This record gives sequence, C-alpha cells and structure tokens, in this order.
Amino acid sequence: MADADEPMVVDGGSGRTCEWEGRWNHVKKFLERSGPFTHPDFEPSTESLQFMLETCKILVIGAGGLGCELLKNLALSGFRNIHVVDMDTVDVSNLNRQFLFRPDDVGRPKADVAADFVNNRIPGCCVVPYPFDRTIQMNVSVFHLEFHIIVCGLDSIVARRWMNGMLLSLLVYEDGVLDPRSIVPLIDGGTEGFKGNARVILPGMTACIDCTLELYPPQINFPMCTIASMPRLPEHCVEYVRMLLWPKEMPFGDGVVLDGDDPEHIQWVYQRSLERAADFNITGVTYRLTQGVVKRIIPAVASTNAVIAAACATEVFKIASSAYIPLNNYMVFNDVDGLYTYTFEAERKENCSACSQVPLNLHFSPSSKLQEMLDHLTESASLQMKSPAITATVEGKNKTLYLQSVASIEQRTRPNLSKTLKDLGLTDGQELAVADATSPQTMLFRLRFTS
Ligand SMILES: [Zn+2]
Repeated sequence: MADADEPMVVDGGSGRTCEWEGRWNHVKKFLERSGPFTHPDFEPSTESLQFMLETCKILVIGAGGLGCELLKNLALSGFRNIHVVDMDTVDVSNLNRQFLFRPDDVGRPKADVAADFVNNRIPGCCVVPYPFDRTIQMNVSVFHLEFHIIVCGLDSIVARRWMNGMLLSLLVYEDGVLDPRSIVPLIDGGTEGFKGNARVILPGMTACIDCTLELYPPQINFPMCTIASMPRLPEHCVEYVRMLLWPKEMPFGDGVVLDGDDPEHIQWVYQRSLERAADFNITGVTYRLTQGVVKRIIPAVASTNAVIAAACATEVFKIASSAYIPLNNYMVFNDVDGLYTYTFEAERKENCSACSQVPLNLHFSPSSKLQEMLDHLTESASLQMKSPAITATVEGKNKTLYLQSVASIEQRTRPNLSKTLKDLGLTDGQELAVADATSPQTMLFRLRFTS
C-alpha cells in the first residue's frame, strides 16, 4: 500500500509497469529476514515475494461477505493471480457489508463486479471471475489451472463439502502412500452472526470438512411431532403455522406459496403463531422472529466477516511463503458475549466417508426397507446427505435403486423405497454407490446384513 499522503497510482491492468519504489516493503519485512516466530525451516530470500507476485495461483470460492474481504486482503498482500467463483448476483441487501459493490452493480454477477473493482483499484492485480455454479465448471477449472491454494468463503455446508470432495479427488496415492505434490491446501472460513471459524485443511493429511461434520449443526429442522403436538420454543410455533396451517387454510388463495418477503404473508403467519404460542404458554414470538424462521435468515455481521477473512488471508500468506507455521488447524471466534477465540487440532476421522479411502459399512437387516437406508444417509450426523441417489450391481447389472433429482427416474424408482433390501436383490457384502450434491465423487458403501 502507498503511504496515505502519496498519490495512489491507479492504472489497472496487469504487468509490472505499475510498480513503485518500496511498494512491497511491508511484505518484505516478513519474507526477507528471520524472526522469533518464523518457521524453523524458513530461509529468508527474495524468492518468496516473487513467487507470491508472479506464480502463486489462488482460487477464492465466494464473492460475498467473506469473499470481498478475502479478495481485498489477498490483493493487498501481494497475490496477483486470483480467481474467484460466485454464481450469485449483487442484491441491494448486500451493500451494507460487501464493500466491492455499489448500487449500480445490483443485478450484475458478484464475481464480475468484485474482479473489476479489485483490478481497477490495485495496480498489477489480475482477478479472474467465474460467475457461475461451481459444480458445472469447477471440475475443468481446478484440474487445468492448477491452483496452489484454495480459500472458501461460503455460506453453505453442501458447497464446502463439495469443494472438499473435489480436492480429495485430486489426491494421488502410490501403493497407498499419498503423493504430497497432489495436495492443494484448503483454507476455509465461515461466519454466522457474531460467531466464526477459520481452518486449514491439507486434504488427505489433516481433518477434512466431512471428518468434522458433526460439529456443524444440521439445518434447523424440528421433528414434526414436536411441531405438531409438543412445541416448546417460539420457533416451533412459527414452523407449525408455516408447515401445517398455511397449506391447510390457504389464506391468500389456493396454491399461493408463502412468500417471506410479503409483509401480509408474514403478518398472517405471525398472528397465527402468537395464537399457537398462547395455547402452549410459550413467549418470544415476534414479527422479526417469524420472518427469520420463515426465511431461514442467518444474520450477517460485517466485523465477523472481517476477522475471519483476515485470519484466512493470513493463513494463505503463511502457506504460500512457507515463512510461518500455519494454523493447526481449527480456530473458533465468538464475540456474542465478551470476546473469545480458541484454536484446537481437529482430528481425522478413521472412517470418514470423504477422506478415509475405505468404503463405509452400512448395517441393515435384510428386511429393512430402502426408505430406512435413505433416511439414514440423510439423517446420520456424520453423513448429512441431501438427496442421495443409490445404485447397486445386481446380477451383473447396474441398477438404480432410487434417484430423486430426475422426476421421471424418481417416479420409476419410488416403489423401491417400500421394498425390503432382500426383495431388491441386495446381498450381504454388496457394494452400493451413492451420489449426492455434497460430493463430486460417488461414494462407495458396503452393505452388511444384521440378523
Ligand atoms: Zn475426512
């Protein structure tokens, strides 16, 4: 960064014509001399900075609250080959914290706007935008562009797991030994209101996203029996109205879907929720809470994003330069009440469905229905799949047992759900292939019959 009283040079584009005396002095202090906190193997040189400026290729996933901060931090730290993926477009509600966007940008792809902004503002920086769904194009991009480090600033666990699976699929094992050159480090940041976390994942070596899946609470879904007959929380009352009363009473006409942005709809749900709450002596139902539950709102706090993105960008810097010891490996941050941070080493799970390299066993009785298996795949805390598609080889033929994402196949395979595993022709020790949105790879399971 230039000193505040120096005129800022802004000429955009890439190339080295835009360098000025002392531009990287602040970074050189970390890379061209040793200190008490440098990595024991670190040898000061000018090469680290050259690597960062010229060679190191970073992929940032997400150009939202965390993504804007990450792009700014990385670009100002000296990273110039930055690629950013985001399929969203700029919304008015983003403007309070996603500071690379302006009112005129509303409706434009976030990746494009963010890249333009950083490229114009920071001379020599070249941010390449990918304004589309990661799953369609990322396969191609990640394989061919050979990123050195990937940073995730996402609000979705499914997308994180997918990226995690993607990096795991790139690992090369020779005679069961991991080739370290095939490892692409993943730095993952996440925030929720006043809480956040940053972690460093070396796929195949340290705990992956799926190893610690049990740390992520499943999406707030209350059991139907609680909602229907034993509500205890104000949220239960709102869910009751949303899921049961609305479809039954159709207050705004047949087939009108509840719209979380329509104040009349929310007002109706709010009033009915209050009545429900009164019946069960529950307090705390407010208009705001009602809208929060209906829209599944997780509040975004700009300063939490700033803290977490700063931690992630620092880890990128440490790994890219090898000058400092990276975070080992999971940092939590919470300033709901006072300010608290804590770092621990998340451990690899021996039977992780994503990174353990061994097909997991699924234990079912031969008389269990396929539906029970499907429920297990979606409800188990360590799997948390979204809409698993199950196939098996039966009598030498590949057979789709159930697939939800294509309507015609769903219809054709739905009767299988009420059949028993035995009736479906499955046998003990049978291999089952399961595809799901949480991973780019098909997962293998082994069916173990219990008696
Ligand atoms: Zn794992």
